[in-house]
Amino acid sequence: MGVTCREKGTWELQSNPSPARLILGADSPAIAENRTCSLQTVSGTGAVHLGALFLARFYPGKPTVYFSNPTWANHNQIFSNVHLPIATYPYFSKSTKGLDWEGMKQAVTDAPEHSIILLHACAHNPTGVDLTKAQWKELASVMKQNSHFPFFDCAYQGFASGDLAKDAWALRYFVEQGFELCVAQSFAKNFGLYGERAGCFHFVTGPGTDSQNTITRIASQLAILQRSEISNPPAYGARIASLVLNDQALFAEWEENLRTMSGRIISMRTALRGKLEELKTPGTWNHITDQIGMFSFTGLSEKQVLQLRETAHIYMTKNGRISMAGLNTRNVEYVAKAIDKVVK
Ligand code: PMP
Repeated sequence: MGVTCREKGTWELQSNPSPARLILGADSPAIAENRTCSLQTVSGTGAVHLGALFLARFYPGKPTVYFSNPTWANHNQIFSNVHLPIATYPYFSKSTKGLDWEGMKQAVTDAPEHSIILLHACAHNPTGVDLTKAQWKELASVMKQNSHFPFFDCAYQGFASGDLAKDAWALRYFVEQGFELCVAQSFAKNFGLYGERAGCFHFVTGPGTDSQNTITRIASQLAILQRSEISNPPAYGARIASLVLNDQALFAEWEENLRTMSGRIISMRTALRGKLEELKTPGTWNHITDQIGMFSFTGLSEKQVLQLRETAHIYMTKNGRISMAGLNTRNVEYVAKAIDKVVK
């Protein structure tokens, strides 16, 4: 790995480091044309923060950052901390418990040109609702027309579908379309390195004659910002991730682990939906299997959530978000029966 210098993170010592190849694809045109730079960060949160700080400092004008409604709550704090104006675009439809696609598209169309649009690369947190490929393509086209800047947050690559390339498809498509963009990458979930804070921030410039020069200057400014804030990122978790990413046998084993983890979550979705339908719990439950990733937005009200907490010791966030990873073959029936009771 050649980690000899603690002044820089594990991945800044490599050209085209493994996290960049993992997220952008080894055959990415941006990597081939040397128009990417990567900095190791304090997990995904640190990557979002570094991107926010960089954009607040260098993005021309004072752009508004648009998040999905709802989004991971920390997005609000992180972008507010660097004094960027924030706004939201519609995302979750309470009636279908799926995507409010028309609302989202309209808001992105109406946003002032050159806005920053924050997008969850896959396994949207907290809703578990992702765009289809056709919707991603249409979104890219709307964003291109309005010269918006995509900021991809990728906290669950490999954890949604179990396939690393599939989960990175949307952002790779945006890169292919020639967008200048950035990516916050977390290894907390897919490597089980939550406590080690391993993550990476990537900036990709658009294709063009001056792109290499531009990326060199961006990389240098990012390094200055990073140095003033954390000096250097934690080494241990990144070394573990690096070891696995750069060893064929370990990489294959990790991919298998990801398929097991995501497959188990998907089977728990099927089981929970099946039990609720068996119990004839009022309402529709297809959203549980339509949604993807660690979380499911159940559609339960705050009152029902609190009732579940008090009467059955089942814990979920007040907005009805359940962690699917907490379900297993032994407790799924108990959970379904308790939900049935509070809904009926
Ligand atoms: N973005 C999203 C959408 C997340 O869900 C999370 C994790 N909860 C993060 C970023 C931050 O990840 P990390 O734990 O790696 O800081």
